[in-house]
Amino acid sequence: MQIIVLPGASTYQLVVELARPARIAVGRLGAADFPAGTYVYTGSALRGVQARVRRHLAHDKRLHWHIDYLLACPDARVTTVRASRLAECVLNQRTRGEIVLAGFGASDCRAGCGAHLKRIG
Ligand SMILES: [Zn+2]
Repeated sequence: MQIIVLPGASTYQLVVELARPARIAVGRLGAADFPAGTYVYTGSALRGVQARVRRHLAHDKRLHWHIDYLLACPDARVTTVRASRLAECVLNQRTRGEIVLAGFGASDCRAGCGAHLKRIG
């Protein structure tokens, strides 16, 4: 896994490879079918990107954020972590891809992103 850290960063992206199609129940959003492929999740952690990412990568944890449900799938694997100083929604909107599940990771979004998880290929 490649991890790109950046001092002062409060946002991050996880590149996630889903090896096989999966039906995943994502908390209150309910179940959705995720095609196999490469996904990018954009998140922010004002009090420490590294601690948040370390938590995302831990296997034994309570499922809390939407991304936790995707990463709990045995066929999902984080391949890259990128930290950024861009605002979360700016970074997300610069990432081209399709929304598989509306609202994913976007509970606090006020910028009309639609979702903070995109399938990029
Ligand atoms: Zn947003």
